[in-house]
Formats: sequence, C-alpha cells, structure tokens
Amino acid sequence: MIGLRNSELLQAAVSLLYPATCAICRKQVRAGEYLCDSCEAKVIRIVPPFCDTCSEPFEGSINNAFTCVNCARRTIHFEAAVAAYRGRGIVRDVIHEFKYNRQTHLRHLVARWLRTALDDERLRDCKFDVIVPVPLHPARQRERGFNQAALLAELLSAHTSISWRPLLERVRYTTTQTALDRSERMENLHNAFRSRKNADVRGLRVLLIDDILTTGSTLSECGRVLKRSGACSVHAATAARA
Ligand SMILES: [Zn+2]
Ligand SMILES: [Zn+2]
Repeated sequence: MIGLRNSELLQAAVSLLYPATCAICRKQVRAGEYLCDSCEAKVIRIVPPFCDTCSEPFEGSINNAFTCVNCARRTIHFEAAVAAYRGRGIVRDVIHEFKYNRQTHLRHLVARWLRTALDDERLRDCKFDVIVPVPLHPARQRERGFNQAALLAELLSAHTSISWRPLLERVRYTTTQTALDRSERMENLHNAFRSRKNADVRGLRVLLIDDILTTGSTLSECGRVLKRSGACSVHAATAARA
C-alpha cells in the first residue's frame, strides 16, 4: 500500500468495504453503485393505479383514487403505507442478502428505494416529528445481529434531519408470517408490539419504517399501538411492497 496517495488509500478502503461488483450478478459496477445496469433495469417501480391506503398495485385502468378490497374490509391503523418498488426479483434478492446474509452495506441501496417512497404525494407534503422503525423481537435481533428497519430508519434520519427513535418493542416472538393468510396474520400479531417504557409519543406525527410491506398487517398493528399511546398520525414507508 506504500506509495498510494491518500485519496487512493481511501478509495481502496472504500472498495474493500463496498466491492464495486453487482450485488446480484457480480459484474463490474460504476463507483457508488450496487447494481449493474442490466440488473438495475429489472428493478420494478410501482406505478398507478394502486390502493391509496396500502399501495397494492391494481392491474387495469382506474384513473381516480381508490381503496383495495382488503383495505375496505379491515380497520387500518395508518393513514397510508407507501412503497415505490415491487419486492420481487432483484429487489427481493437484494433485501434478502441485506437481511439474512449479513450484506449490511446493501442498506444504502435499500434506503435509496425507501427514500423514493417519500416522494409519493401521500407523504411528500407531510411533516413528521419522528421516524420509528418496526421492531424485531430481541431474540430475533440477536440471531440476525441487527434490526434492518432500524438501520434504514437511521439512514433516512440522516437524510431528512428527522430524528429516529425506537419507540416500539416487539414482545411476542411470532412465527414467520409468510405462510399465513390475512386473518391469521392479524391473530398472530395481536399484542405482539407495545410502546417502550418512557416512550412518549403523544401528539407526534410518526413515520413508521420497515424494509418490506406484505399485507400491511404489521404496520397496521404498530400504528394501532402508536395511536393508542397518543400519536396523532402514523404514515408508513417501506423500501418495497411484496
Ligand atoms: Zn448485475
Ligand atoms: Zn389497500
């Protein structure tokens, strides 16, 4: 390494931390990027029409705002849950690497997707007092080594200057939600969360953060707890929507 100028040293250090290869196909990528152009092109944006409440995309042509059947027939405890990307293919793979394969540098890419959600008109003009990550159960967090939602909340906070605070805790170790239908999910989540001791959310406009939105049940349950504790509004943003 002797003889390298400072900037080269820095670059070498950076490329050790963030190898300049595509997170998916390992092809060379441009500096500061995580995906090559062909993988990037496969990332799917959510485009209208979609449900105003939970962002579920709808196949077909609807020009006015609408609420999907699932939102229409349940009580939702958030104002809107917004995602800008489909959690499929490349996006799902990147989030999977980030969460389960300890590729934590990919949080920067996932946070970029999350930030795109904030440009949505349902969030753009909102003022938020605090960013709150969806919590993991302590046992799961120990096993994983981190809470992905907290890492994203931290990056979003740095970018928006809205402070982030882990105001919720997960008190029930729930089984994985993947195989459950909507009502089973709600049952599974009942009393899974609570406000942390000394967390004062009264009167706060909360931006709730998670990596991926599946049915919105988790976000809604967190919203219920936050509102019961006095939060005045709860909007949610996620990096992707299943
Ligand atoms: Zn690639
Ligand atoms: Zn909906």
